[in-house]
Amino acid sequence: MTGRIKKKQIQAELSKTSYQQPGVLICPLCDRTIPKSQRDEHHLIPKSHRGRQTKVLHRICHRQIHAIFTENELARQYNTIEQLKSHADIMGFIEWVRLKPADFFERTRKSRRLSNAKA
Ligand SMILES: [Zn+2]
Ligand SMILES: [Zn+2]
Repeated sequence: MTGRIKKKQIQAELSKTSYQQPGVLICPLCDRTIPKSQRDEHHLIPKSHRGRQTKVLHRICHRQIHAIFTENELARQYNTIEQLKSHADIMGFIEWVRLKPADFFERTRKSRRLSNAKA
């Protein structure tokens, strides 16, 4: 009878689950890791609307949110990550940015609609 447990194989399986290093942040918007240089804090409800809860995102993801939504829209409707992700423009952005390296950044162009309405 040969019923020996393959210890080594089991240990290898277990170690697979702990690949995420401590201190590594994952962007809730695009699910990629965020390098230190790209960390940006987003107020789910804008500070101007007395919001306090923040989420750490990539700078580019953060800029994209503010390029699409006004502070009023953020405060009233898009005040959770789930709501943000449900918007077609954000979905399109995520599809695009997911294929970029984690430290990718380029200037985000504001939509015409918002560039005139800046508070
Ligand atoms: Zn923000
Ligand atoms: Zn991101």
